[in-house]
Amino acid sequence: MKPAPFAYRRPGSLADAVAALAGDAGAKVLAGGQSLVPLLSMRLAAPSMLVDINAIPGLDTITADDIGVTVGALARHADVLASDDVRRVQPLVPMALSRVAHATIRNRGTTVGSLVHADAAAEMPVVLTLLGGSLEVVGPSGSRTVPAHELYVGPLECCLHHDEIAVSAFFPALAPGAGVAFDEIARRHGDYALVGAAALVDGDSVKVGYLSVADVPTVVDLSGVPDDRLGDVALEHLDPADDVHATADYRAQLVRVLTARVVRSAREGTR
Ligand SMILES: Cc1cc2nc3c(=O)[nH]c(=O)nc-3n(C[C@H](O)[C@H](O)[C@H](O)COP(=O)(O)OP(=O)(O)OC[C@H]3O[C@@H](n4cnc5c(N)ncnc54)[C@H](O)[C@@H]3O)c2cc1C
Repeated sequence: MKPAPFAYRRPGSLADAVAALAGDAGAKVLAGGQSLVPLLSMRLAAPSMLVDINAIPGLDTITADDIGVTVGALARHADVLASDDVRRVQPLVPMALSRVAHATIRNRGTTVGSLVHADAAAEMPVVLTLLGGSLEVVGPSGSRTVPAHELYVGPLECCLHHDEIAVSAFFPALAPGAGVAFDEIARRHGDYALVGAAALVDGDSVKVGYLSVADVPTVVDLSGVPDDRLGDVALEHLDPADDVHATADYRAQLVRVLTARVVRSAREGTR
């Protein structure tokens, strides 16, 4: 199938990109195209205009310091994954990124694009939510910071306005003494996970974020829960569903297995 007709703009500045989006209510940002282009080809999306942000300078930076990791809107998954500084400051980011799709898709797809695309089966929205990160967003009325816990409002839906561009994402650093872990079960390497889980353990605080078992990335606070009850308590906050890939019961069992696994692994990895 071919995409429906659309106009194409490739502005050279952020201001021009925002103006192009503001001037057409049907316009959409094009970043790595690894989610949007398949949607166009299947005619599941039919924007009137694509605003390609790839010619805007300064959006591909990746910085890491004691406070955290900042990933620009044009930083590709592969570059974030390859960064030793990112790994040192917040190891959960590369742990999860290594499970995002295949190398060819990571070479082009952007981490910020994945966060905005808001797929509850994707790895990075859960990581941003678990860590309490945020998105820096620019629109016609200036810039704003959107905390991750406000970002995801429904299936494949985040709270950005259609004329806003996410310019960077911020992942807080791993605190001294804290530990993280990530694991997922997929039918084949590189597929979207049937279920995935990310853990953050910091002293008595135990939090686990889940993908593919709710409409939005979901973090459950499991502090104080006995180890043999972790998965069952988490399931009280999740909504595993049947689909062609797995039954709800199987997904629930994966939640139990993965929760125990990532909490144990995060405790072992505390630093
Ligand atoms: C075969 C295949 C397998 C995949 N497997 C996985 C997987 O296992 N896990 C996973 O997480 N992802 C997976 N992906 C998706 C991949 O990670 C994408 O790269 C990512 O979801 C979107 O990033 P992108 O830069 O390609 O965004 P695009 O496709 O360009 O855009 C996606 C959406 O986000 C919007 N957008 C993008 N950037 C911005 C911005 N800066 N500001 C505002 N809006 C923006 C676009 O308008 C569009 O609506 C897979 C993709 C394919 C094709």
